[in-house]
Amino acid sequence: MKVEVIAVGSELLLGQITNTNAAFISARLAEIGADVYYHTVVGDNPIRLKEAIEIAEKRADVLIFSGGLGPTKDDMTKETIAAHIGLELVSDKEALTYIEQYFIRSKRTMTENNKKQALVFNGSTVLNNRTGMAPGMAVENNGKHYILVPGPPHEMEPMIVDEAIPYLLEQSGEREIITSHVLKFYGIGEAELEHRIQPLLDKQSNPTIAPLATADAVTLRITAKAATIEDAHKMIAPIEQEIRAIVGEFIFGTDEDTLSSKALELLQSHGYTLAAAESLTAGLFLAELAKEPGVSSALAGGLVVYNEEAKVEQLGVDKKLLEEHGIVSSECAASLALKVQEKFNTNIGIGITGAAGPTPHDGEPAGTVWIGIALPNRVPMTYKLLLSGSRNANRHRTARFALYYLIK
Ligand code: ATP
Ligand code: MG
Repeated sequence: MKVEVIAVGSELLLGQITNTNAAFISARLAEIGADVYYHTVVGDNPIRLKEAIEIAEKRADVLIFSGGLGPTKDDMTKETIAAHIGLELVSDKEALTYIEQYFIRSKRTMTENNKKQALVFNGSTVLNNRTGMAPGMAVENNGKHYILVPGPPHEMEPMIVDEAIPYLLEQSGEREIITSHVLKFYGIGEAELEHRIQPLLDKQSNPTIAPLATADAVTLRITAKAATIEDAHKMIAPIEQEIRAIVGEFIFGTDEDTLSSKALELLQSHGYTLAAAESLTAGLFLAELAKEPGVSSALAGGLVVYNEEAKVEQLGVDKKLLEEHGIVSSECAASLALKVQEKFNTNIGIGITGAAGPTPHDGEPAGTVWIGIALPNRVPMTYKLLLSGSRNANRHRTARFALYYLIK
């Protein structure tokens, strides 16, 4: 199966966004043994898109298009392909109902051009969009497969994995099923992780092991091909065990887990409440945790205590302690954690302090961070980080590290 991935969008050509969709699609196709020979990027222009299609048809059996399925005028991927291969666009009943429900749920009014999103090629296989509105579609014409998925990565990714790949496997007469299991890591870089599991990477074939770094985590996707889903799971389990034996200490979750979802899960399972006093992160930690629905069962509140005066006046941190140890210190983090725990009367208190950068603070180099966690028995634990990113990268990483240490 020769595949060409065609990303549509002028923003890609202008350098405003990076073509991460092509990378994701290629990685998933590699897992099923499909050969991606070309990545094409073309702007939102019907004439140039048609040219790109004609070139791709000469060198690929499967053309996968990402982007341009939205309701606006510049979204013209399916119209252009429909005209090119001579297919009619028809409204898909299920997709239209789904879009209508989407508007009802989000209490917004649906406009006429949203109906356009329910249009699909006549006779095509509709690819469901579970995380957005525009359905994707797949159709065969003259021995070529045309697969269309939306541009936003959070819509495209599940559609590729759950809809497009099964479609391709069915078309290619592949009887085997493919399933993946994702391990999520924090506190270890992608390079270090790869290095440590290199022997496993070297001997992989089925299951495959694919590392991927995102802002939230470094992940390993273990993918197995087998006759049944049970067989696939049986093949994945020993590989997972081998990985856990080497780098298990950095694993915080699997599949859909995030640092915040795991942190909330942990708090809820113990019936714990939490409050946080944040200095350099200025609320980022609480904002991360508050991403989770249902967080009010565990999250009491918190304070941003940025300067020394706020730490002393608002929270009651001992001025002498700060003079003696400085703001960027284990003692300060521990005190913030204990004081906020006391003030909000919670089971857990989090204290975050440090030098975000770019300049040193209190004689501590930029990127030095202390995280304090006051446990239910009022004993504080502290953790030191030495980060080397930009000021804002350091602030965001600190917030995630605090979640990570909370889980650990
Ligand atoms: P929408 O309904 O959101 O308009 P769409 O299918 O029409 O979806 P586009 O308008 O092409 O998709 O792109 C929407 C957004 O998706 C872009 O602004 C960009 O953030 C993201 N995106 C699109 N293509 C890519 C790509 N190839 N790689 C990464 N991100 C992309
Ligand atoms: Mg669009």
